[in-house]
Amino acid sequence: MSAIKELREYFAEIMRLGYINALLNWDQEVNMMQYKSLEGRSKQVSLITKLTHQRITSDKVGKMIKEAEKLDLNEIDKAMLRDITREYNLATKLPEKLVTEIAETSILASKDWRDARAKSDFSIFQNILEKTVELQIEKAEKLGTHPDIYSTLIDLYEPGATYHWIANIFNPLRPKLIDFVKKLNSSSDKPDGSIFDKHYDEDKQFEVSHKIIEKLQFDFGSGRQDKVTHPFTTSLAALDVRITTRTTEPFPDCITSTIHEYGHAIYEMGIRKELHDTVLCTGTSMGIHESQSRMWENVVGRSKEFWMYWYPTFQEYFPENLKNVPMEEFHRAINIVQPSFIRVNADEVTYGLHIILRFEIEKALMEGKIQVSELPEIWNSKFEELLGIIPPNDAQGVLQDVHFSGGLFGYFPTYFLGNLYGAQIYAKALKDMPNLPEDYKNGEFSNLLSYLKEKIHQHGAIYRANDLIKRVTGEDLNSEYFLNYIEKKFTPIYRL
Ligand code: ZN
Repeated sequence: MSAIKELREYFAEIMRLGYINALLNWDQEVNMMQYKSLEGRSKQVSLITKLTHQRITSDKVGKMIKEAEKLDLNEIDKAMLRDITREYNLATKLPEKLVTEIAETSILASKDWRDARAKSDFSIFQNILEKTVELQIEKAEKLGTHPDIYSTLIDLYEPGATYHWIANIFNPLRPKLIDFVKKLNSSSDKPDGSIFDKHYDEDKQFEVSHKIIEKLQFDFGSGRQDKVTHPFTTSLAALDVRITTRTTEPFPDCITSTIHEYGHAIYEMGIRKELHDTVLCTGTSMGIHESQSRMWENVVGRSKEFWMYWYPTFQEYFPENLKNVPMEEFHRAINIVQPSFIRVNADEVTYGLHIILRFEIEKALMEGKIQVSELPEIWNSKFEELLGIIPPNDAQGVLQDVHFSGGLFGYFPTYFLGNLYGAQIYAKALKDMPNLPEDYKNGEFSNLLSYLKEKIHQHGAIYRANDLIKRVTGEDLNSEYFLNYIEKKFTPIYRL
């Protein structure tokens, strides 16, 4: 058997261990939140993590990689070897003790974070967060992919990206976004969001969110939708993609966040069979992943044409709230731009500012320029600088996201990159298929889906994000598309 075929088979088992790990995590999030202790689960996760680490770091892998490098490989095998080598290098640089400590700490941190958030008391979370930060710094130092720690961590989620590359994109956007938010809010005819203060039955919300993703061709023969407190998507096999929905937040969070998770899931579901069970059977980067979810959630799911089709259904589901509200007013209301405390509920315009805040804080934290104990205070003062408001408590401030407890430093910037990639990809799709908005009016969403499948989803991780964006749009990431998109969309909504 050739070395590349051997590697492919060897890593198929590593992928399966990863899927088992994902199942343990999915089960924990969906079914175990009321448990008193997660120690049993924590030990299981750390065992699977250890077994995975042992397999990846085996000498055998190093030898197979060397053999495979001598072969004349096709495009897919080349990409596979690139990612296997990356995995191998990342894993061999990390001692097993550190890997298991990180896994166990993140489970315990998840519990402390939940308690701290419930009581809005940062001190409950502070100790384990300090340990989490130390472990991540140690990990980055051992990996040493880039000269600076934060770039090494970013590279884990957005291969090839660095702190400076992202800062060069974010820094010019910072003042433009702050100004645009101010401009919109100077309007004398702002949308009215009071319809969302009303009560929307939770079961009905879930039902209609299910209906929407069914229409958008989520494949219920290869996935599920369950209820949780913090929505996410996870793959338990190539054709087993789970999304989760929450119904506890003010309407229409359930709808928009379900469409968001659908966008992640449909990417994974669309990867071509040839890549199943290989290291390429995944989205190519978190930024590209987020481009798909946020495109469906916002660009499609908050467009007027989308609601021209769906609004009558919503009026039927919630007649007491919506019967007398015209579609146009509803559409304006779901597009309110308003500085708010919680990132996941933020509108499309202020969202980027939430990310810039975390990007700047994480950079300083990883460089030791700020201490964990100072986080609540620094969070609040930066929040005021960027969004003009101060969180009333830590639950709505520094404790709001799960990422710090998971040790996912470097992950946040990919969310905003996703908006930027998404706007650029959608602009190209619209150029190629100017009828897309007309399609939505008729409940026809498959043309966009087929386009994304062909251009992006089927390729899995074959192409790196910067290659992919060039292949699809003909140019590098360009934030002008996002700025044009928000200006063109929100100026009329705010009647400016
Ligand atoms: Zn997402």
